[in-house]
Amino acid sequence: MATRWFILASGNAHKSEEFNTLFDVELMGAKAADQKIEVDETGETFNENAFLKAQAYYEKYQRPVISDDSGLVVQALPGELGVKSARFGGEGLSDTRRTALLLEKLQDAKDRSAYFVCVLCFYLNPKEVFFFEGRCMGSIASKMTGDQGFGYDPVFIPEGQKLSFAQDAEWKKANSHRAKAVSQAQKFFSGFFSEK
Ligand code: IMP
Repeated sequence: MATRWFILASGNAHKSEEFNTLFDVELMGAKAADQKIEVDETGETFNENAFLKAQAYYEKYQRPVISDDSGLVVQALPGELGVKSARFGGEGLSDTRRTALLLEKLQDAKDRSAYFVCVLCFYLNPKEVFFFEGRCMGSIASKMTGDQGFGYDPVFIPEGQKLSFAQDAEWKKANSHRAKAVSQAQKFFSGFFSEK
């Protein structure tokens, strides 16, 4: 079966890097779009935002698109991160400043539990749009550790682990919210493409 290529509806270079290590390239792959499209993420759910991004890139390129909308849900800060994780603390903050702000806000929190969510939207054409979701449960550490990954990785300790995502990229690659969503998508598409 020939590899199916998707345009990746994201300007986030870290996400493209992660995708390229997660896909089974015999089956499918994601190529970064040659131009970034600014999409207003006005949706209230990860699914809605993933759809808005995929649709915008499909309309421009008229080719199958994959988009990712992801974020961190922190129990002690309801509604503050989640779909708004990239804007937590305001636009224009660096990942490190944003993560430092999260630690500051959790200074006295008793409940430090949190989870990452990743929703993938595969937009093959307007009649064939598929969603897959992956979650990774864990908690927020009291300080940043590790220098791998991106975003909130230095403070996220997955359930049952001692190291942060930023300290153990191999563990993240196999078990993250994104890895889980990709794995479901690949299972689905290996059947779907073989029937076509
Ligand atoms: P999006 O690009 O609109 O989906 O925003 C995702 C937000 O969640 C960004 O602030 C990322 O830093 C954060 N995020 C999503 N996935 C991860 C991850 O795997 N590690 C760390 N931060 C992540």
